[in-house]
Amino acid sequence: MKIGVLGGGQLGRMLALAGYPLGLRFRFFDTAADAPAGHLAELQVGAYDDEAALERFAEGLDLITYEFENVPVETARFLQRLAPVYPPPQALEAARDRVVEKTFFRSLSIPTPLFYPVLTQNDLLQGLEQVGYPALLKTRTLGYDGKGQAKIATPADADKAWEELGGTPLVLEAFVAFEREVSILAVRGRSGEMVFYPLVENLHQQGILRRSLAPAPRLTQALQAQAEEYARRVLLNLEYVGVLAIEFFQVQGQLLANEMAPRVHNSGHWSIEGAETSQFENHLRAVCGLPLGSTAPREYSAMLNLIGKLPEPKDVLAVPGAHLHLYGKEPRPGRKLGHVTLRAESREELEERLEALSGIL
Ligand code: AMP
Repeated sequence: MKIGVLGGGQLGRMLALAGYPLGLRFRFFDTAADAPAGHLAELQVGAYDDEAALERFAEGLDLITYEFENVPVETARFLQRLAPVYPPPQALEAARDRVVEKTFFRSLSIPTPLFYPVLTQNDLLQGLEQVGYPALLKTRTLGYDGKGQAKIATPADADKAWEELGGTPLVLEAFVAFEREVSILAVRGRSGEMVFYPLVENLHQQGILRRSLAPAPRLTQALQAQAEEYARRVLLNLEYVGVLAIEFFQVQGQLLANEMAPRVHNSGHWSIEGAETSQFENHLRAVCGLPLGSTAPREYSAMLNLIGKLPEPKDVLAVPGAHLHLYGKEPRPGRKLGHVTLRAESREELEERLEALSGIL
């Protein structure tokens, strides 16, 4: 079976690594010739609006999926005429614009932070009256890893935030004083079967994910059930097939949805070593119509992103329970270059191993 993947980044690379034992083959499509998946599989370089290139890409493929959520919806719909596309393009549509996404969550009775769409400077002033201070102004589309965001702590910050971001469609959000951030990875197969990974606790700095702990410490059954119920509503409403990630803020024991990603997700990388079946394998099982694998965690895991610079591999690998993943990317400030997953038998042992690793990363 040959699978086409839109996007050839590290997520695509890890999909291929999970797919080879299942006998799957891959062809990637990316705008960059040095995309990390190209080291492992066929890579076609092209533009997402080049129909002739997309036709060539689809030739001989059994199905198409994506690892990049900013694939234009039109591209996914065009390809749908040539081969089955999973997750369905309506998932891209629901997730690409923060206002559409939050409105979608609310239509499914999934709570979100207060938000207000902003097109003009006057909208911004009205929005600030509605959501209060502090607030966060964000671009509606194409924002990731904290890019395209400005915090407005007092009325005096509003002009600066507008100067920085004004001119494109924006959304103003209440700044949430969360206890922590958590995410759920949910999977739905072609037969409608659904499985859920345990909630993971995520630490972000400057909007970039630094560390995930899996399962989330102090995870209660009630919180897990709440997250699964919200994810189930999204999966069913979108007739979803594949892995979906939803990121939440936890506030006073409640979950507020921040955003979703219709693809495998950085907060699920721990599952490669830390779960019975990784998110990558389960995504492939789902899109291929195969039975889904158990999401049961193997004891305790921590995932640490390697951002901007790389440690010495021998130092990382000297830490017991450490697994190193390098994406084959050139170091650049702020760039995700790889990750380390640490596994341990107990929380205490995980803390010790994290301590040992912290001197190296
Ligand atoms: P996003 O691109 O929306 O995922 O934002 C990246 C990170 O910025 C989140 O993971 C949070 O750490 C932080 N953040 C985003 N929106 C809010 C908010 N409304 N309140 C507090 N922190 C936020």
